[in-house]
Amino acid sequence: MTRLSPADLLVWAAGRDDVMARFWARVARPEWTDCWIWTGALSDQGHGRFWIGEGRVVIADRLAWMAAHHGQEVPEVVTHDCDNPCCQNPDHLRAGDRSTNGLEYWARRGVPGSPLNDRRGARKRAEALREAALTGRPLSEVLADGLSDVDRDQEPLW
Ligand SMILES: [Zn+2]
Repeated sequence: MTRLSPADLLVWAAGRDDVMARFWARVARPEWTDCWIWTGALSDQGHGRFWIGEGRVVIADRLAWMAAHHGQEVPEVVTHDCDNPCCQNPDHLRAGDRSTNGLEYWARRGVPGSPLNDRRGARKRAEALREAALTGRPLSEVLADGLSDVDRDQEPLW
């Protein structure tokens, strides 16, 4: 296993029932969101980090995408339509590439209330979602902590 490339490692892991059972045990599906929240370790970008074994770590959402798309080519990046990098819901994940992902990020970042505007940054936001998923702390509380003043006071334009 240690000789597998990162892409082959994802394909291998996605096909293993024992690995995927361990993976999904780290995913919470709270009632307050359609997002499936990663409850394990997080990267600085707010992505889940999943230890496959033998020192190999993968980005959780890449593995969630592979598990839902057996036989397909490993994408350059997996993007989140929900803008929550800790989300593992395959319905929210899309295969993409770096250039379109960057363009979408900057386009959506300007939208008031977007998760991308969370002033704590992606990792702290993911930590807050993880806390809400694990402890039952109300989502409105954990998310309000990260709203910028502009987002908090934003009035609809119509
Ligand atoms: Zn989501």
